[in-house]
Amino acid sequence: MKFAEIIGNNVAVNDLRRMIDSGQIPHALLISGPSGIGKMLAARAFITYLNCENPVNGDACGECASCKRIALGNDPDIHYFYPIYKLASQNLERSEDYADEWKRFMEESPFMDITAWMEIMNGANSQPKIYVQDADEISRIASLSTYADKYKVIVIWLPERLKIEAANKILKILEEPYEDTIFICVSNDPGSILPTIYSRLQRVEMKRPSAEDIEKFLDLRNVNPINRATLARLSGGSFLRAFQLASDEGETSEFGEWFRNIMRNAYARKAGILRNYADEVSAMGREKSLRLLSYFSRMTRENFISNLCIPPLNVMTHEETSFSTKFAPFINVANVEEIIEAIENARRDISRNANSKLVWFDFMIILMILLRKKPPQP
Ligand SMILES: [Zn+2]
Repeated sequence: MKFAEIIGNNVAVNDLRRMIDSGQIPHALLISGPSGIGKMLAARAFITYLNCENPVNGDACGECASCKRIALGNDPDIHYFYPIYKLASQNLERSEDYADEWKRFMEESPFMDITAWMEIMNGANSQPKIYVQDADEISRIASLSTYADKYKVIVIWLPERLKIEAANKILKILEEPYEDTIFICVSNDPGSILPTIYSRLQRVEMKRPSAEDIEKFLDLRNVNPINRATLARLSGGSFLRAFQLASDEGETSEFGEWFRNIMRNAYARKAGILRNYADEVSAMGREKSLRLLSYFSRMTRENFISNLCIPPLNVMTHEETSFSTKFAPFINVANVEEIIEAIENARRDISRNANSKLVWFDFMIILMILLRKKPPQP
C-alpha cells in the first residue's frame, strides 16, 4: 500500500508523510475518523513508507524486500492486534489465534467492516474485545529486537475496545517507549479510548471523503459512469459503503429487471406469467429473495417520491429512473401504504420460513389489485 493509492484526505496523508520525512516519528500514533473511510489503508501506507528501503518522491517504492513483505502480510516486524471473541474452551484468547481469519479479512475488507470481521470469526451476538492476553503479548513483542525492518510496528485496531486491564498494561508500555517500536492505533471512536492512553498518542484525524473522491474510487472499480453519482450519494461519505454498493451493482440491475417485469405483469393481470415468476424468484433462496423484497420496498418509495417532482430527493440509477418516468404515477396516495405493507408482510412470512412460492404469488396477486387503484380526482 502506497500513499499514492489513498484517495482524498490529503491533509492527513501529508501529515503522515511529513512525520517520516522529518525524522520526527511519534512512537505512538493515533489515526482516527469515522468507520469505512480508509484509516487502516493510511496506516498501512505509513508503515510501508516507514520501512521502505528505497523510498521515491515521498512514497514507498513498492518493490524492495520490505515493501513486498508488508504487501503480502507476512512481515515478521508488523504485528496486528484487534478485537476478538475470547473462547477459553477452544483456546482462543489472543489476536494471534485468529491470524488466518485476520489476513483474509484485510484482503477482503480493506475498509475494515466490523460486521464482516464478526462474521469471519463466526461471531456470537456479543461485542468483540481486546483482552489482557494481547496486552501481555504486546509487552513481549515490544521488548524483542526487529527481524529485518528498520522499525517494528504494533498496530492496534479499535483501541476503544481494549478491556480495562489490557488498556492499563498497554499504558505502561507507552510510558517507556522502545526506540525501534512504533505503535499505531486506528480508531473509529477516539472519545472512548482510555484518556490516559489517548493523551499519549500523537493524533492524525481523517475526514469523510467528498462525493468527488467517492466517484473517483467508483471509477477505479469500473462502476458504470451513469450510476457513479447516485452510488456516491447513497454511500453517505463512506468508501466501505461505496465498495459494498459497487459489489451489489450487478444484483441491483438484476433486481431492477424483476421489479419492472413483476410490476408490468401485475398491472396487466397476467396471472400465469406471475405464477412462473413466483417460482423463479423463490428459487433464488431465502436471503436473496428477502433482499429483493427490500429492493421492492425502496423502489416503491422512490417511485412515489418521484411523483412529487423534486429530483434531489430521488436516489435511483439511470435504468431505474428511466422506468420510473412512466411507472411512477401507478404508485400514488391511494395505494402506496398498502403496497409497502404487502411487501413487509411478505418479508415477515419468508423470514419465518413460510412457503416462499406461495408468499410471492400472493404478494403479486395483491399487487394486481393495488396497482389499479387511482388517486382521488381533485
Ligand atoms: Zn520499498
